[in-house]
Amino acid sequence: MKKFTALLLLLCLLLTFGCTGGKDLNIHSAVKEGSGLLEVHIIDVGQADAILIRTPDQGDLLIDGGTNAAEDDLLDYLASQNVQRLQAVIATHPHEDHIGGLDGVLNTYSAEIVYMPKVTHTTATFERFIKAVQNNGAKTVQAKSGVSLDLGEGGAQGIFLAPNSEEYDELNNYSAVLKLVYGDTSFMLTGDAEKLSEGEIMTQYSAKSLAADVLKVGHHGSKTSTSAEFLAAVAPQLAVISVGKDNDYGLPHPNTLTLLEKEKIPYLRTDEEGTIVIYSDGKKIALSPDELEATQVSATPIQPLPTTDNDTKQTNVIIESVDRKAEIAQIRNEGDNDVDLSGWVLVSVQGDQRYTFAEGTILKAGESLAVLSGPNAKADIGQVVWTEKNIWNNDYDPAELYDAAGQLVSSLE
Ligand SMILES: [Zn+2]
Repeated sequence: MKKFTALLLLLCLLLTFGCTGGKDLNIHSAVKEGSGLLEVHIIDVGQADAILIRTPDQGDLLIDGGTNAAEDDLLDYLASQNVQRLQAVIATHPHEDHIGGLDGVLNTYSAEIVYMPKVTHTTATFERFIKAVQNNGAKTVQAKSGVSLDLGEGGAQGIFLAPNSEEYDELNNYSAVLKLVYGDTSFMLTGDAEKLSEGEIMTQYSAKSLAADVLKVGHHGSKTSTSAEFLAAVAPQLAVISVGKDNDYGLPHPNTLTLLEKEKIPYLRTDEEGTIVIYSDGKKIALSPDELEATQVSATPIQPLPTTDNDTKQTNVIIESVDRKAEIAQIRNEGDNDVDLSGWVLVSVQGDQRYTFAEGTILKAGESLAVLSGPNAKADIGQVVWTEKNIWNNDYDPAELYDAAGQLVSSLE
């Protein structure tokens, strides 16, 4: 066994790509030199969720804002961390234990974008939240499967893996589920998504995309979430449960804890530990920055969000290739600025079939995005699904790309 490990290590050294253990090979998150650590703070807000993400280039994002009752605690915590503004706020779903404190947050901090699923709720808390979003002036973007998140220039990437449907009976299943990737490390942040949504994620995404080092256990450890199959697919090295001390719901449910123990996955609970902070240097995760290789924390001030095509009108996005057999159209950003593809349209001229890029689709400078069609098309990081129908399998079918204003940007015969 030792000999085998040594051999494997040698092999890894020989390969320039390093050893990733076979997971997440589709995800191109490179740690940039001089970048800081990625930090994920699972904030103790009692029986609720609130997660602060600090990106390697010192941007801040907040997923959920705890209850109304915990709002002051949350604001105190954000102030203690010297948060100045929020790149993004993600309201996973409209339950009070997730959006209760967000009105206070949005009335205190300017936010660039608020991501939320397409669902409303008839509560005073929800109304206060919506009013605070409007007063803040933040742009709102629908959180749904396949929408990628701008996490700045430090190399971290994010993509929503859920919701995958438009309608659910249970509000929890609208939860925006975020896969956060930094270098070789990743986090699966699930909101209150239940087993139904977990199943949809497993159908939509490859095993590589599901695997994560850290799992925020769904729905406060309730037995409605964390199916054995989902847990096996994510296969985290650490699980975290956001849960209140002596809560009325008896959470976390013993079944969930038994499952974690059976799978030998260590877990931490906010009711026992208080706020839990997990650090990543892009190579491994740790509960203290001291355990990681001395990574120089960059002193760059908070980066403004990249300018979009709307501001500059100078985009250099092209249709790089269309593989008619594999049903893959490759779009590439050859410019120096990131481009917001929201509302852009890719056209298969022969059949006049049109694909509109989802709101919030950002194509970073120098990167490509694959638009997949045909029965085998699967969404993944770096690729989106047009349709399960075949689009390109004609003898002659030019492709055209139009921006949101309807201007022809690129064509390929
Ligand atoms: Zn909840």
